[in-house]
Amino acid sequence: MSLAARKIRLIMNLRRSGITDLRVLAAIERLPRENFVPQPFLDQAYEDKALPIGHGQTVSQPQVVAIMTQALELKPTHKVLEVGTGSGYQAALLSRLARRVYSIERHRPLLREAEARFLALRLTNIHCRCGDGNLGWPEQSPFDRIILTAAATERPQTLLDQLKVGGIMVLPIGPDRGDQDLIRVRRTDEGFEEETLAGVRFVPLLPGLGDNGENGDTRQAGPGRKSLA
Ligand code: SAH
Repeated sequence: MSLAARKIRLIMNLRRSGITDLRVLAAIERLPRENFVPQPFLDQAYEDKALPIGHGQTVSQPQVVAIMTQALELKPTHKVLEVGTGSGYQAALLSRLARRVYSIERHRPLLREAEARFLALRLTNIHCRCGDGNLGWPEQSPFDRIILTAAATERPQTLLDQLKVGGIMVLPIGPDRGDQDLIRVRRTDEGFEEETLAGVRFVPLLPGLGDNGENGDTRQAGPGRKSLA
């Protein structure tokens, strides 16, 4: 089956599984996921599964990317923060749906590869930083939307503080390698409202920098969906 045919199959499956936001579906259809996966996995670029990208990290499963992107309720005027650039696939999708994307990655080599992909696709509205995403990006805060693509063990208060009132944060939360919940937090005048969207399995949000990424960590657990909550 050709990549194009596999892509159509994936989009149909996403629709069937409850992704109804046509802007999100169109953006997924237009973004070449094959640009974001390593060469040996090219033929699997449109399979609905997480794929390894090196340094023990993975590009998330398309269904999880779609659920998270839809849950963000993005508008073309939005300024978005992503923690965990990884391959850059999620950031690239956000960049097609929002005005500006700020993305933080702790592994420098992963970030360099992601930036090369953004350049090749002429995605000029993504700004990256190598650093600890737990700290957020104070100079650019507050953000309309924040997305974490690595699992936090606790509510990340520093990041919640960088969310605008009326803003939305989507993140996986739970123990490393254990059952995690994908949650959506809305900041209101009164405080924060939370809802659970799905059961997921993400790599952990780690502290500090990734040893310049040269050694990486060898964990294999990848972003994937277990079941809808
Ligand atoms: N959004 C990515 C998925 C990346 S997997 C994609 O579309 O491909 C999660 C990423 O989060 C990994 O690359 C990992 O290195 C990164 N990460 C983990 N903890 C981090 C932290 N504290 N700050 C920044 N990045 C972090």
